[in-house]
Amino acid sequence: MTLTGQMLRGGFDGDIIEPGDAEYELVSGVKLAAGNPAYVLRPASVDGVQAAVRFASDAGFALAVRGGGHSFAGFGTNDGGVVIDLSRLADVTIVDHERRIVRVGGGATWGQVGAVLGEHGLAISAGDTKSVGVGGLTLSGGIGWKVRKYGLALDNLVSVDVVIADGSVVRANAEHNSELFWGVRGGGGNFGVATAFEFVAQPTTEVYFGTIAFPATEAHTVLRGWAEYLRGAPEELTSVAEFANPFAGPDAPVELHIAFDGDSAEAMAAAVDPIRRLGTVIKDDIALKPYLDILVDGATPPPGLKFVTRSRFVERESVADTLRILTEVAAEPGSPFMAVRGVGGVVSRVAADATAYAHRQAELMIMTTIAGPPPVVDAALPKLDALWQRLAQHVSGAYANFLTSAGEADVAAIYPPSTYARLAELKRRYDPDVLFAGNHTIRPA
Ligand SMILES: Cc1cc2nc3c(=O)[nH]c(=O)nc-3n(C[C@H](O)[C@H](O)[C@H](O)COP(=O)(O)OP(=O)(O)OC[C@H]3O[C@@H](n4cnc5c(N)ncnc54)[C@H](O)[C@@H]3O)c2cc1C
Repeated sequence: MTLTGQMLRGGFDGDIIEPGDAEYELVSGVKLAAGNPAYVLRPASVDGVQAAVRFASDAGFALAVRGGGHSFAGFGTNDGGVVIDLSRLADVTIVDHERRIVRVGGGATWGQVGAVLGEHGLAISAGDTKSVGVGGLTLSGGIGWKVRKYGLALDNLVSVDVVIADGSVVRANAEHNSELFWGVRGGGGNFGVATAFEFVAQPTTEVYFGTIAFPATEAHTVLRGWAEYLRGAPEELTSVAEFANPFAGPDAPVELHIAFDGDSAEAMAAAVDPIRRLGTVIKDDIALKPYLDILVDGATPPPGLKFVTRSRFVERESVADTLRILTEVAAEPGSPFMAVRGVGGVVSRVAADATAYAHRQAELMIMTTIAGPPPVVDAALPKLDALWQRLAQHVSGAYANFLTSAGEADVAAIYPPSTYARLAELKRRYDPDVLFAGNHTIRPA
């Protein structure tokens, strides 16, 4: 009897998809990575997740856990191993209307969450894309359009149910298994399969959202002014700068995407007008919209493209030098695509050791991406490395959710030493044999 046969005999609650099955092509890979797993297991219940974890562990398969399948590093698939695809665990339920507690299945996407909560005038601080999974985004941070006012997605988490490596279910929150609760808020999928998350949602009206763009020639002054303004701006205002967009050619404008979390035109104008005065505005389409409409659908790139995405954080004293270097390189031909996200606000008022996400004092998170056929990307790598070498003395850490690589240097950048030591102790306790290795993997202490 095959391994799946044995498992079926045990009554697996869910779908078992193997090479050759009609659905296999659709589920073998993820958004940014191809894969050829031996089994894609799609549990329909927590029991099914437990059986799938035990199956992978007992049979000695490499294991990938898939939430929304948007990991830049391609963690949601593998070659020859088992994938646990959580997409059937996607219920979104408001379990306590008064306290605004929302229970979300471990395989839900932010679009599914938004569709339910929007009808109740609620939303959860998350990301910018509907198709991104709640699981991956939350377990490593969650920097989205409400981040300055309400913090990271993981700052709004109050409880999580996790199937750990031995197949048992553990609830982690401030009262129970609080050390695990600390670790899952930043430690990614290192400690098990989160079958359900409970968040506190925020009352959400329509929000102001749009883009204010400036010519590339004004990039440096605009970005400097923007970063300085964000430091003291109303926390309803969250903003992301994008520039050096290769699809827009050498004169790609500086685009400041802006979300103002509120529906007062006066308050929005007071918050946004200082940004409008930073330079020569060539586009301004800020308008009132339902919160769900400001989230986009992640486009699926054509197969075979290679991506290299790197990220780092920037604290106050390094903002000016970092933006100077980025804008100098952005003006050169063949620059990578660059994005800078304003963080700060509520995120910075949480202690660095309160969660395994430690980069609390950063004012900005910077990110570069190069994408294209593998030889083109490989040829661009020396220039990319040179940029990051110039930046090295000004930046710190790394944002796990914006990294295509997963080597030891990446893990060391994501977790400061004291955070890593605490995570390694948790790994020893919950996953000593490193079953959950398809991650920025922590080694057991
Ligand atoms: C188009 C796009 C837009 C993005 N926008 C943002 C943004 O605005 N803000 C932001 O912060 N990030 C953003 N990201 C990054 C995103 O947060 C990460 O890619 C994240 O890992 C995606 O989570 P996922 O569940 O979709 O991915 P997956 O590939 O399914 O999972 C990613 C990792 O999380 C683990 N995981 C997922 N679900 C669970 C679970 N339930 N239990 C245990 N482990 C789990 C997986 O094992 C894997 O290690 C974006 C990514 C893309 C591709």
